[in-house]
Amino acid sequence: MSSILKLENLRVRFSTHRGQLEAVRGVDLDIQAGTSIGIVGESGSGKTVMSRAAMGLLTGSNVTRDGRISFDGKVLSDMSREEVRNEFGTGMAMIFQDPMTALNPVRRIGSQLQESLRVRLGMSRKESRARSIELLTLVRIPEPKQMLRKFPSQLSGGMRQRIMIAIAISCNPKLLFADEPTTALDVTVQAQILELLTDLRQRLNMTMVLVTHDLGVVAGNTDYVAVMYAGEIVEQAPTTELFANMKMPYTEALFKSIPNIQMKAGSRLPVIEGRLPDPTDRPLGCGFAARCSYAQEKCFAEHPELEEAKDGHLYRCWFPLGDSIPRKVS
Ligand code: SF4
Repeated sequence: MSSILKLENLRVRFSTHRGQLEAVRGVDLDIQAGTSIGIVGESGSGKTVMSRAAMGLLTGSNVTRDGRISFDGKVLSDMSREEVRNEFGTGMAMIFQDPMTALNPVRRIGSQLQESLRVRLGMSRKESRARSIELLTLVRIPEPKQMLRKFPSQLSGGMRQRIMIAIAISCNPKLLFADEPTTALDVTVQAQILELLTDLRQRLNMTMVLVTHDLGVVAGNTDYVAVMYAGEIVEQAPTTELFANMKMPYTEALFKSIPNIQMKAGSRLPVIEGRLPDPTDRPLGCGFAARCSYAQEKCFAEHPELEEAKDGHLYRCWFPLGDSIPRKVS
């Protein structure tokens, strides 16, 4: 396997009226071609900012990005905005959480799909129509010819997400980012979309980055997981190893907040108590200390570095789970 996307010491800062907000703080990640990786964390953990920065989608005078980003052997962080834009859409593509905001509500599905093919691949009208039908078939839309004439508002959330997937794969990307692709959908449709993405990834030999707040979503759909908290990777491991031997109390808390089918109807979903630290005023020690039931004095005073447990299983914790050090459980 070879590296398809490599992030080295990636940092992203936003200038705000409250000062510098550091959303991504020195992330290193090496994604191998043909694999599927889950980036997991609560809202505000930095996972979406990191993904967008990696794709060159974060622009604006208030954004500062440092570090090195290499995609398929090319250093994206050295390229002009124009060059990055050319790479995006052919080399990389992204699916967003809410397809309704990404699709144009007043244009037919066929027109939106065909435009992508004509502009990016230079296809004729006839070629782009034939390819659109192929793509709709690939994302398992019944009666694809009729679908070309519909407007987004005539479709269910699941169908709209299938259209977004068809547009995203239309230029044969090597790398597909899926940012909370199933969050807005009900459970049955979620499972269908995840199964479709996994199937397409294998059939089209794509690499997939699945960005989600839900650790349950990555369980059967990724080879590797990186858990983010307060702008940093706090745990990273092959998916089976992570679920078998999680080291970080934060990962454990995410795991405990996965909805369970044995939960009684109407019962509240478990949540992680407390809040992420203020990104303009980071605590001295571990960012999770104020919320961690295992925290000890050292956790508040010193920031933990990434440690390797075994075979690429990394964690950032002074007192990892499974260790024999006595815990102070509140
Ligand atoms: S370093 Fe301390 S506070 Fe942070 S996750 Fe580990 S035990 Fe909890």
